[in-house]
Amino acid sequence: MTSLFEYAPAPESRSIVDIRPSYGLFVDGEFTDGTGTPLKTVNPATEEVLSEVATGSDADVDRAVRAARRAFVKVWGPMRPADRGKYLFRIARLLQERAREFAVLETLDNGKPIRESRDVDVPLAAAHFFYHAGWADKLEHAGLGPAPRPLGVAGQVIPWNFPLLMLAWKIAPALATGNTVVLKPAETTPLTALLFAEICQQADLPPGVVNIVTGAGETGRAVISHPDVDKVAFTGSTEVGRAIARAVAGTEKRLTLELGGKAANIVFDDAPIDQAVEGIVRGIFFNQGHVCCAGSRLLVQESVHDDVVAALQRRIGTLRVGDPMDKNTDLGAINSAEQLARIRELTAFGETEGATCWQPDGDLPDRGFWFKPTVFTDVSPAHRIARDEVFGPVLSVLTFRTPDEAVAKANNTTYGLSAGIWSEKGSRILKVTDQLRAGVVWANTFNEFDPTSPFGGYKQSGYGREGGRQGLAAYLRSDS
Ligand code: NDP
Repeated sequence: MTSLFEYAPAPESRSIVDIRPSYGLFVDGEFTDGTGTPLKTVNPATEEVLSEVATGSDADVDRAVRAARRAFVKVWGPMRPADRGKYLFRIARLLQERAREFAVLETLDNGKPIRESRDVDVPLAAAHFFYHAGWADKLEHAGLGPAPRPLGVAGQVIPWNFPLLMLAWKIAPALATGNTVVLKPAETTPLTALLFAEICQQADLPPGVVNIVTGAGETGRAVISHPDVDKVAFTGSTEVGRAIARAVAGTEKRLTLELGGKAANIVFDDAPIDQAVEGIVRGIFFNQGHVCCAGSRLLVQESVHDDVVAALQRRIGTLRVGDPMDKNTDLGAINSAEQLARIRELTAFGETEGATCWQPDGDLPDRGFWFKPTVFTDVSPAHRIARDEVFGPVLSVLTFRTPDEAVAKANNTTYGLSAGIWSEKGSRILKVTDQLRAGVVWANTFNEFDPTSPFGGYKQSGYGREGGRQGLAAYLRSDS
């Protein structure tokens, strides 16, 4: 796309990764064949088939759960907590050592800019293992009872937007608390989970402690509904989250759900506009907007609306959309043809319902799945683009006059995952934060993540927390 300055291409080399033509499942410490029909995984920026990946059937999932149960009973459960911590430290260090390989593979399989996989996804994934490694032998000091115990086997299903990072969010706390794992990565992004399986081998993690079963939704259903799974952890759509809650209801399984969002990013008239614009861009265009906590609803105080929108459009005009492997790229490819179709469908509603659509000039690549950064103004709270999660680089701008109106509009959503506030007044930030029904509220920043900080939502954004001391509770039994 046209930009203020032209940059010479700065492509990251893909020679560091060695993608195999096909992959099996990782069960009981080894790669084995799956009995379902294999799936192809493609590079969404080029539509090139990267590899063929096994699909786990009910029988394969059963094998994985049995391996996880054996490992829990014989090795991982009885192991000294400090020794478990050593394995987690080892995994964290190996992730750091092979960081470049993970970043390149993530970008090829997911379509996100290499700058983000290199600077955000992979370092944060390692940080989650470091953080939880430290907890492994201190659980009795976590405020969760004098002798908290692991639950057993965790069945975990993750989405495609942060494939390695979501794996780390799920596996690190499960292992640190003494549980074993069967994890299903998303169908369109299985490759970094399979590389992580190699890390488990390299770290000499006892067989069965981590099992990776690839496949589509049916494989996920088999994981969460297996009778010998004690804990289910899911990140993904609200619709599938609901189906999982129904499947788990009436069983002894513990459940955490991290689902969608429609976060308000609130800009007051005293906010420094240039900084707020950076935060708005980071809030909605980070990871192509494939972010459950994305700041997809911009609430701007009416008196500064025109200035903010003008500054935002200028800034968006400088974003570089294109080859995710180029180190200068700001926005990469949409993860799949299905997701692109969904974004197109929802943005079409925006126009027919009367909102005004703005996109920067410039062309998109011919091959692959692409969508320009998009801003809708003249949006009313009843519009679908103000209510539904688009999960793409699409921002809806609404206005407000008073702080009370801002709070009412921000909370006028079926979701409650995150929110942002931009203001110079600390007192206003504290007062408004208190009134927002959102699990995470950022002040004068957006989309900041840290393993020490709990993350999770209210209402249809799900329940339970991941990260921090609070996140450990989901994997522990505190009763005696
Ligand atoms: P899904 O919720 O379908 O996928 C999430 C994970 O669940 C994937 O691994 C998926 O497998 C698996 N899955 C699908 N069906 C079942 C089932 N019945 N039981 C158990 N596991 C299942 O999300 P989509 O990829 O379809 O995305 C659709 C929309 O969901 C997006 O447009 C976005 O709005 C939202 N979303 C929200 C996310 C978040 O972080 N909150 C993340 C991803 C999507 P498979 O990959 O084969 O489908």
